[in-house]
Amino acid sequence: MTVIVIGGGASGMVAAITAGERRENSVILLERQARLGRKLMATGNGRCNLTNTDCSLQHYHGTDVGFMAHTIEAFPPADVLEFFKDLGLLTVTEPGGRVYPLSNSANSVADVLRYGLEQSGVRLLSGQPAREIKRAGGGFSVITDTESLEADAVIVAAGGAAGEKLGGGKDGYALLQSLGHSRTALRPALVQITTENAYPRALKGIKADAGLTLESGGEVLASGAGELLFTDSGVSGPAAFDASRAVSEAGDRQMTLALDFLRAYPEKDVFALLSARREKAQALAAGELLTGALHNRLGRMVVKYAGLDGTKPIGALTDGELRRAVSACKAFTLPVRGTEGFQNAQVTAGGIRTSEFDPATLESRLVPGLFACGEVLDIDGDCGGYNLQWAWASGRLAGRLGR
Ligand SMILES: Cc1cc2nc3c(=O)[nH]c(=O)nc-3n(C[C@H](O)[C@H](O)[C@H](O)COP(=O)(O)OP(=O)(O)OC[C@H]3O[C@@H](n4cnc5c(N)ncnc54)[C@H](O)[C@@H]3O)c2cc1C
Repeated sequence: MTVIVIGGGASGMVAAITAGERRENSVILLERQARLGRKLMATGNGRCNLTNTDCSLQHYHGTDVGFMAHTIEAFPPADVLEFFKDLGLLTVTEPGGRVYPLSNSANSVADVLRYGLEQSGVRLLSGQPAREIKRAGGGFSVITDTESLEADAVIVAAGGAAGEKLGGGKDGYALLQSLGHSRTALRPALVQITTENAYPRALKGIKADAGLTLESGGEVLASGAGELLFTDSGVSGPAAFDASRAVSEAGDRQMTLALDFLRAYPEKDVFALLSARREKAQALAAGELLTGALHNRLGRMVVKYAGLDGTKPIGALTDGELRRAVSACKAFTLPVRGTEGFQNAQVTAGGIRTSEFDPATLESRLVPGLFACGEVLDIDGDCGGYNLQWAWASGRLAGRLGR
């Protein structure tokens, strides 16, 4: 049969390779951009965190996360790694189960997929956006700017709205909606949290390991821990990304983000550490109270946040002042403004309703012969390789075309 895959990103390339593995299929891969896998090459800061050895469903979000259970079971991380190994890719697993190419270069992942497409005999049409999908007889016509292509089956793998500069957009939703599908609200996820910015701006570029608690009116909306990066307008980095989904979900509610820079130490231990420092380093300026415990600039900023006079000798600090420094280390609280938009987001929360697809095949329940995979569907994952795992697994299943 003739199969058209719309979108040459992560899920589309795997779907096309899989469909092409059956020699009776003639597969066309349509990509809007000049090059395949542009977003893929930017993933993981150019290193591509391609999967995670722990892909349990708790790392995923969407209206019905259970929908994806079969997809992930059918192509779990171990099989993903085997698939890539067959294509020549070597990988390493880092703490937290995050898997990267051994080359440390996302290009290696895109390169082996391009090789896989060649091996599977897939015909590439790049620089060709699909403008329309029409039902024609028992099959489909896919209309581009220059031609009308006929197919027995179509796989929509056009991605989500996140990462606009890298190819993110809303075409996939529009194409599926034109055939009767519907979608949930779209929100940026895995994105920088914007906060009241005086402190973040002063700390710009500094990374810190921190615990993080997002609160609104006394209710904890999200909590987590890990690497944070201060930016001009707020906080970025994996720990902030994971909480960002809850920020965009909460909409206009007033929220605060409390950062714990000494998460391994209970408050009483921090107080004991600072008291000992007061004894041993009496003549040092209070601005240096946390030197050696935190990044120097961060330590000075925490002292300032605690309202201490940084020029006063440490030996002259009162117990009350030390307690304020402890609180500032353990709950450095920033009022939240929101998140950055789709342009800077790594993934889209929301998408085409999964209830309209068969979880066993990813075939549309509304239009036989139509399949969807990847971010265009209402599934998104945490930071840590989960989104690409979903893209590979769903691409693999859709590419089987119900077989
Ligand atoms: C900066 C950044 C870093 C990331 N890092 C990671 C990471 O390390 N690990 C991880 O798991 N996830 C990461 N992600 C998320 C991950 O890249 C995506 O979830 C994944 O690529 C989604 O796969 P997809 O195939 O659904 O969409 P995409 O990979 O976005 O592919 C969709 C493709 O469809 C094409 N397209 C769109 N419309 C049309 C049309 N009308 N006609 C033809 N083609 C079309 C697009 O140009 C694009 O190439 C990152 C995302 C970003 C933006």
